[in-house]
Amino acid sequence: MMKVYLDNGATTKTADEVVEAMNPYFNKKYGNSSSMHKWGMKAQKAMRKSRKNIAEKINATPDEIIFTSGGTESNNLTLKGLAFKNKGKKNHIIVSKAEHDCVLNSAKWLDKQGFDITYLNVDKYGIVDPTDLKKAITKDTFLVSIMHANNEIGTILPIGKYGKICRENNVLFHTDACQSFTKVPIDVKEMKLDLVTLNAHKIHGPKGVGALYKRKGIKITPLLHGGGHEFNLRSSTSNVSGIVGFAESAYIHTQEDIQKMETLRDYLKEELLKIPDTHLNGHPEERLCNNVSISFHFIEGESLLMNLSMRGIAVSTGSACSSNSLEPSHVLLAIGLAHEIAHGTIRFTLSRYTTKKEIDYTIKNVKEAVIKLREMSPLKKGVKYKTDDYDDEHQPIF
Ligand SMILES: *Cc1c(COP(=O)(O)O)cnc(C)c1O
Repeated sequence: MMKVYLDNGATTKTADEVVEAMNPYFNKKYGNSSSMHKWGMKAQKAMRKSRKNIAEKINATPDEIIFTSGGTESNNLTLKGLAFKNKGKKNHIIVSKAEHDCVLNSAKWLDKQGFDITYLNVDKYGIVDPTDLKKAITKDTFLVSIMHANNEIGTILPIGKYGKICRENNVLFHTDACQSFTKVPIDVKEMKLDLVTLNAHKIHGPKGVGALYKRKGIKITPLLHGGGHEFNLRSSTSNVSGIVGFAESAYIHTQEDIQKMETLRDYLKEELLKIPDTHLNGHPEERLCNNVSISFHFIEGESLLMNLSMRGIAVSTGSACSSNSLEPSHVLLAIGLAHEIAHGTIRFTLSRYTTKKEIDYTIKNVKEAVIKLREMSPLKKGVKYKTDDYDDEHQPIF
């Protein structure tokens, strides 16, 4: 049986060259980067180089890069750090309904602390209408947070437009770029980005490390107080090996990799859409090079995931973080899918290591599994959905 990993939206294999770059910092150059001796200086040097390499990738300067433990921390630092900074002055934050849980749950928590939160609608592709954003900004708004690329449906959002609107209205603009970093170009100056969340483990780097880009001059309250690391914004002994690996991973994706992923993505998408009663989620063109999100009507996504897992194929339903719950994904509901259809949605996410042979194996097995599950399914075509609240308004929109 082949083994095919198509869950790169959840996490990726740490690349061999990344592991190699990290290795010396575990057992040879293991100094604390805050120490003044030779061991410490070696660690400092590695940190300086890594900070510069990450900064260059998004057209920022090294002193604008704060290393963190990953995407979740960078998003929490942005929302809560700016909220604490603005407390008693400005009170309003705008986010989209399709953000990652770590943005949405930070916003919900701040809501309980007395901040006003606006949750902007997205269209059927997951895109926020710039006009809606403009209208939502008030004199009280200090932050807008809208993601660059959606982790579930793969849509790439026009963050340059949001950045421009925010800059014109004197509001800070933050984007969560965990899914897009190194796959879609990011230029913080051209796109007028004030804060950007990045992480390593989605781009063949190690887990547990990421960064927040914060434009020079923006004041933020730290969440972790201590020895004053990371410009006093994120104390704790620096994760030197992780940071070295992160910087290495930022240069893994080549233009050739991206084109190869796009070709395989389109092939997989076209073949899977030949299965009757399926549709693609997310924007048909403005989408990540590695994401195919398909709803298989009349099927439970969990059953399909388990069936494919037995066939050696790893995929996901919704996002990995929320797949413990039986609630359908908030992203799929936000783009207007009925509950039943949302439940039948599978995300396939490719990597630079994915081969044509693996995609052929996947296509064959998905087709077989779907036929098998539909034969057994109580949701079978022609049979009414069994949910009590089913009505015509909740018909699938596609
Ligand atoms: C994975 C992911 C996160 C969380 O990042 P961690 O480094 O796992 O904490 C946040 N936002 C998006 C869009 C992601 O894909």
